Amino acid sequence: MAIQVKNCMEDFVTDLLQQVIKSYPNICTCDQCLSDIAAWALNHLPARYVGTDIGDAYTRLDIYKQEHYAHIIKIIAQAIEVVSQNPHHTIKK
Ligand SMILES: [Zn+2]
Repeated sequence: MAIQVKNCMEDFVTDLLQQVIKSYPNICTCDQCLSDIAAWALNHLPARYVGTDIGDAYTRLDIYKQEHYAHIIKIIAQAIEVVSQNPHHTIKK
């Protein structure tokens, strides 16, 4: 028996982060900062686990994503502001 689950919120966040970040042209977008932003957002959003072998999982997730879209965007925007003000590396000037 193999248990196969994944947290679909990770997909939502990495996906939507690409869009939201375009509104912040002045922040650092190195791999470390992007990972920190995604991690901060995921820590402030509910996990959304699905079994990966469930056929209609993606349909149900689409509905979930639409219903929570505004909230996820808001959390990502907060994550960008928190991380860009406190990057985990020295700011190059
Ligand atoms: Zn950076």
